Amino acid sequence: MQNPFRDSSQLKKQRDPGKPLAGKPPTVKRVRWFPMILGLFVVNWIVASLIRGPEPTRVKLPYSTFIEQVTARNVDSISSRGATIQGDLKKEITYPPKVIDSQKPVTASKFRTERPTFATDDLSTMLQKSGVKFGAEPIDRPVSLWIQLLTGVGPTLLFLGAMLWFLRRGMAGSGLGSIGKSKAELYVPPAERTTFADVAGIDEVVDDMREIVDFLKNPKRYQEVGGMIPKGVLLTGPPGTGKTLLARALAGEADVPFFAVAASEFIEMIVGVGASRVRDLFDKARAAAPSIIFLDELDAIGRARGGAMSFGGHDEREQTLNQILTEMDGFSGNEGVIVVAATNRPEILDAALLRPGRFDRRVVVNPPDVVGREAILKIHTRKVPLAPDVNLRVIASVTPGMVGADLRNLVNEAALLAARRQENAVTNADLTDALERVQLGAARHIVMTLDDRTKTAVHESGHAIIGMMLPEADPVRKISIIPRGRALGVTFQSPDNDRYAMSETYLRGRIVGALGGRVAERLKFGQVTTGAESDLSVATAIARQMISRWGMSEAIGPVSIDNGPGEGGFDGAFNSSPISEHTRELVDNEVRRLIDSCESEAHELLAANEQRLDRLVESLLEHETLDEAEAYRIAEIDHNIRK
Ligand code: ADP
Ligand code: ZN
Repeated sequence: MQNPFRDSSQLKKQRDPGKPLAGKPPTVKRVRWFPMILGLFVVNWIVASLIRGPEPTRVKLPYSTFIEQVTARNVDSISSRGATIQGDLKKEITYPPKVIDSQKPVTASKFRTERPTFATDDLSTMLQKSGVKFGAEPIDRPVSLWIQLLTGVGPTLLFLGAMLWFLRRGMAGSGLGSIGKSKAELYVPPAERTTFADVAGIDEVVDDMREIVDFLKNPKRYQEVGGMIPKGVLLTGPPGTGKTLLARALAGEADVPFFAVAASEFIEMIVGVGASRVRDLFDKARAAAPSIIFLDELDAIGRARGGAMSFGGHDEREQTLNQILTEMDGFSGNEGVIVVAATNRPEILDAALLRPGRFDRRVVVNPPDVVGREAILKIHTRKVPLAPDVNLRVIASVTPGMVGADLRNLVNEAALLAARRQENAVTNADLTDALERVQLGAARHIVMTLDDRTKTAVHESGHAIIGMMLPEADPVRKISIIPRGRALGVTFQSPDNDRYAMSETYLRGRIVGALGGRVAERLKFGQVTTGAESDLSVATAIARQMISRWGMSEAIGPVSIDNGPGEGGFDGAFNSSPISEHTRELVDNEVRRLIDSCESEAHELLAANEQRLDRLVESLLEHETLDEAEAYRIAEIDHNIRK
């Protein structure tokens, strides 16, 4: 029971999060901390034992011998703790008298003994009679409070002190200071360099980049004519659109060293090192110039400063950001170092970053259109043997919204499928099955009762009928009651062409469609199930945006009362735009009204087409999955009329 709009969120999930950016951080240097700590402990121990002085030699006596010595009036003084007695003799004694069981004789005037628990002698009377001073001094000289403190907390203090010291020094290149070193690694060109030939579908962007390549290759020519050379290029665009790829290709084309680091790495580890890491990174890049520094996820440190969120971590971020700005301002333009940064949230960046002389070159990387997608598919199938029935243009046309990373993932899934099916080329079926997997999620093997299957079939048919009937809705591509992920069924819709702007009718249709599942359940069974939960949140989210963001409500009018960028982040919560309580209430009422009216529309539509609904349910129960053509045929809806 899934809403028909899970495509967008689904695609996000498929995206590979890890990119071979900086590779593994070097671990060699970090190991040196260990000997240092060890050394500190050794020093500490030696100092402590020097202060404490050597332990006095004591002869260990049996209790009986001790009593003998007492009666012989050879005992000067004793003290005791528990059953242990120790003290001083007047005359030295040697015990044992000769070597017994490899126990060497010890001669000393100090002794120790253990009083057996069963001893019944009247020791104190005996001691008094023999003139022994007792209880005068506690056992062994106690270690002074100072020494106790020193041995106990000393190592920790020393360690902390040393650590602070190293951090303070800003890790100016000392062998121990790996903490402040940037983790950016020199990108060593692999056997095959990344070039612009590996990038497709974003030609405008590539053209912009060629100019920079030219500068990196012939800096002299630019300097002679006094041309302003860009110091920073900011790539913005959704994740997976190829920003990292582009930066790497830039380095590959210019054949210069490439230093890549994710901005979050500057501040992830220990407070106070972000700035020195930045310094280190720029030093490295300058030494290797001409070169390229790539800062991924710039927004992690480049968020606007000030504002309401000056809580923890704020100063650290700000210091790091300031250091980047300082480094970039320090460029005269002749160093031949170009900073390329990427972000998918340019709107939250600090204005200081965008000032002239910093990231003044901004390049937007958009998701590819159908032509672009075909070109990207071509790139990623270069090394994949394709069966003759594969038409990449068709695949490109059914994957609107997918970005480069998704398409690469799709090809990879298809190749895996082909291997599992023991084919020697990837067929069209492999690709469409992989697409289904990528778009809808992998099937889950659970056994559903007939009752559950029927409910799911009714629910999905409800979504599907509305999707097929509403003239502006995205065509229904697939209906399935095979459980995938958390969903028991899926209705998958996607547009024929890429959508850039959405009309009010279209959005309303999406709400009607999202509610179609539960409306169908109520129509058929008189009640709804919990399966419609995510449908409701989708419907509500669309309705709320229509009203508060896109001005699609008469009562509110064409004003934006959205919290703006940063939704989900914590700045959204503090960004208290002046929305009155009254307006909030009005929005809530309008959302409610819109959803109610969409629900009635869904009900009317399904009630009027109940036979179509029934046929679809029956067919779904039989086949489990229906593709586009089957669905329209069974519901007797003319696919072409609606276009
Ligand atoms: P971003 O940095 O924008 O999140 P990446 O550059 O990390 O995206 O993209 C991940 C992978 O997806 C790339 O390594 C590449 O294989 C593929 N890819 C993304 N965009 C494109 C594109 N325009 N052309 C070819 N491959 C692409
Ligand atoms: Zn649903």
